[in-house]
Amino acid sequence: MLAYTAPTTVEDAVRALAGASGIAKILSGGTDLLVQLRSGRAKPDLIVDIKKIPGISGVRERDGGFVIGAATPGAVIGEHEGLRGAWPGIVEAANLIGSTQIQGRATLAGNLCNASPAADSVPALIAARATCVVAGPNGRREVPVESIVTGPGRTSLGRDEFIGAFHLPKRPPRSADAYLRFIPRTEMDIAVVGVGVNVTLDAGGVCTDARVVLGAVAPTAILVVEAAAALVGRKLDETALDALDQAAQRACKPIDDKRGTIEYRTKVAGVMARRTATIAYERASQR
Ligand SMILES: Cc1cc2nc3c(=O)[nH]c(=O)nc-3n(C[C@H](O)[C@H](O)[C@H](O)COP(=O)(O)OP(=O)(O)OC[C@H]3O[C@@H](n4cnc5c(N)ncnc54)[C@H](O)[C@@H]3O)c2cc1C
Repeated sequence: MLAYTAPTTVEDAVRALAGASGIAKILSGGTDLLVQLRSGRAKPDLIVDIKKIPGISGVRERDGGFVIGAATPGAVIGEHEGLRGAWPGIVEAANLIGSTQIQGRATLAGNLCNASPAADSVPALIAARATCVVAGPNGRREVPVESIVTGPGRTSLGRDEFIGAFHLPKRPPRSADAYLRFIPRTEMDIAVVGVGVNVTLDAGGVCTDARVVLGAVAPTAILVVEAAAALVGRKLDETALDALDQAAQRACKPIDDKRGTIEYRTKVAGVMARRTATIAYERASQR
């Protein structure tokens, strides 16, 4: 029989996970987990609802950066003015997830730990150099977001570990991020390609730092170092955009499915990388 517990401390949540006799699953917003339970795709023995842990939901500023609690829904992320100003790419990625109803529940932690290759917030988080605080039996450890997902539906978290929060670093001057995805329909669809870009410029508009991350074109989101290298040391001219486009296309290892062929996804990845970088660059230039 499926058991449910809603602990009120991180330590009790870890104890519940560790003590589970079969499969235990963390419940954040439930927008993936409940669908999987009803369809029979997930058959846990225990559900550990973390939403009753004080402080697990909400956004707060810290050391010039931000802490986003693991159970913070997309709607709350979208309403946070400071976060929208500093990290527009993360906010637009989080707010692309589902509909208004889904936004009232869906979290970044659930989006990451569900480990879909097409998860919208993941490329934006990795582009931002976001880290997550992982709670477990030996206390807490902080790891880069890109170390969590190891393949479709798989994470590096131990069975008695869960994500408690995300940390976003302080923004340097003249830096900004952006996230774009391509979907066959205009709403409520799964990304064919998602791109997160984060750039920092010098006073002359030359890019001094960049992160380019592709989603939905490989088993996990991919940080494309070559694509970032195409931007660094240059203004965003046609040469840089062409090099970015080519590097993004080379990094793709997509599947063929009803949403797009391998050739199509690869081509779209280059186009979307150009567009996302252009938005990030324009935003950074205005700061
Ligand atoms: C109608 C609909 C539309 C959707 N549209 C999109 C979309 O456009 N883009 C997109 O990316 N996704 C979409 N989704 C999928 C889903 O809404 C997102 O992945 C969402 O962010 C999941 O968050 P959650 O809090 O609801 O996760 P949950 O369902 O609570 O959890 C998902 C998984 O992550 C695990 N988990 C949750 N929190 C933690 C934690 N803190 N630590 C460790 N493990 C954890 C759970 O055990 C579970 O395995 C959609 C879903 C629906 C139903």
